[in-house]
Amino acid sequence: MVKDDKRFQATSLLQDKLGDRVRTESSELFHASYDGLKIQGNTSACIEVDHTEQVGEVLKLADEFQVPVTTKGAGSSLTGGATPIHGGWVLDLSRLNHLELDEKNRVARCGPGVVVSNLQSEAEKLGLFYPPDPSSKDFCTIGGNVACNAGGLRCVKYGVTRDYVLALSGYMANGDQVTWGRATRKFATAYNVRDLWIGSEGTLGVVTEITLRLVEKPLYRTTFLGAFASDELALSASLDFSELRIRPSILEYMDKWTINCLQDYTGVQVFEGLEPKPMLLIELDGIETEVSRQSGILTEWLSKHSLAFRVAKSEEEAENLWQVRRQGSSAMKKLASTKLNEDVVVPLDKQVDLVSFVESLRLQFNLKIGVFGHCGDGNLHVNFMYNEEDEEETTRSVEALTSLMKKVIELGGAISGEHGIGLAKTPFVRDQFNQAEWEVMKSIKQSLDPNGILNPGKIFQIFKPWEKEKLKVDLHWEK
Ligand SMILES: Cc1cc2nc3c(=O)[nH]c(=O)nc-3n(C[C@H](O)[C@H](O)[C@H](O)COP(=O)(O)OP(=O)(O)OC[C@H]3O[C@@H](n4cnc5c(N)ncnc54)[C@H](O)[C@@H]3O)c2cc1C
Repeated sequence: MVKDDKRFQATSLLQDKLGDRVRTESSELFHASYDGLKIQGNTSACIEVDHTEQVGEVLKLADEFQVPVTTKGAGSSLTGGATPIHGGWVLDLSRLNHLELDEKNRVARCGPGVVVSNLQSEAEKLGLFYPPDPSSKDFCTIGGNVACNAGGLRCVKYGVTRDYVLALSGYMANGDQVTWGRATRKFATAYNVRDLWIGSEGTLGVVTEITLRLVEKPLYRTTFLGAFASDELALSASLDFSELRIRPSILEYMDKWTINCLQDYTGVQVFEGLEPKPMLLIELDGIETEVSRQSGILTEWLSKHSLAFRVAKSEEEAENLWQVRRQGSSAMKKLASTKLNEDVVVPLDKQVDLVSFVESLRLQFNLKIGVFGHCGDGNLHVNFMYNEEDEEETTRSVEALTSLMKKVIELGGAISGEHGIGLAKTPFVRDQFNQAEWEVMKSIKQSLDPNGILNPGKIFQIFKPWEKEKLKVDLHWEK
């Protein structure tokens, strides 16, 4: 009761300061209470800031009154990172979407609310390029990408979000304004808190401006799609290509199960006359001579290793090849009410082990599990489809998922390569670290956010997303 009174008082003080930026209508609160994980949290106010300084004001009050603050960009997190499970306020930064491009220094300064594909298209107008491309780029924000260290398809050649962040401005939990890093190409000045904030999922600070490095826009690209007799042959690409001096900008794998599911969904065979087989979507980009040199070597490699392959001769043909990769996910969604998308990552030479382990899980647990993803990075998406209304199937899926996570760690991998921990991976994250490592993490959180107001519950508190019903009872709507 005391806690609720304090929060109520803080919200009314905030309303005095920020007026109608503090939204309390039930439709707004409902919208702010969940993200891409689709588990409902609860919030007493959604604060739609439109000036950077307001973030400092919000945090000062929140810290003083110990009100939880969940920062939100577009809310596309697949792990529940932006779900307010401990009530309090949702800090919506989507309106902080200023964007300034410095062509001379090849740098972009953006508000956290800039949508990633907008940044990319503005940069491209100047012949520049911002490569990280999560599949959600048309709606997710650059602030969310920094907070999750987002990846995507092109990371195999260009790297992840972290590789482009030069500086971050923002606010500490107590409302103090800070800038970590500078708009310089190098930075070796004392502790690198910028890199600590990247991937910290809104638990260590709130980002209000991001300075990003841009590169030259690649002028040519070629797209290939190949089918292989086995996973071993398909996945050998990630090891062979560096020896052959091929640097694909995209190297995507789809297992046989995914292709089967896709063919059932579309009613069309990807390669006519060929039963479902593991496939690779490969793209080369760069200057014309380099793309053509690498295309020659790749064509030779595909002729030798694949059962069949196609090369796109036009943008339209490239788009047709891309459909195979894109429709895999849509096809899987049709199979069950829930699709858990795990984004595990293992060393390149352990991918075959991972994929054959998934095959054994499929048989042992009699489950629908599809694998596709960024095999150039060892970052494979393992998708579990199950009906959450079916208790027995849910139990089997959780057991299979738990075995998968153990296997990933045993293979020297990590339980998340790009989505982060949020809520969904909290049951497994502790196993990734030894006691000393875990204590360091906890002490960093304690030091930067002593009152624990920033995105509480995320990373450190075990939350089982498959126990949705139980959680719904535990959660309550604040008045
Ligand atoms: C269809 C689909 C495809 C996807 N594909 C990919 C993919 O290919 N690669 C990939 O990496 N991810 C992917 N994602 C996941 C998601 O889009 C990313 O995690 C993205 O980075 C989240 O951005 P957002 O703006 O939606 O952030 P939100 O979901 O709003 O927030 C995500 C996390 O960041 C924190 N946060 C947000 N903004 C800030 C800020 N300014 N300061 C501090 N903390 C902040 C939040 O508190 C939360 O913990 C996909 C999601 C969907 C729905």
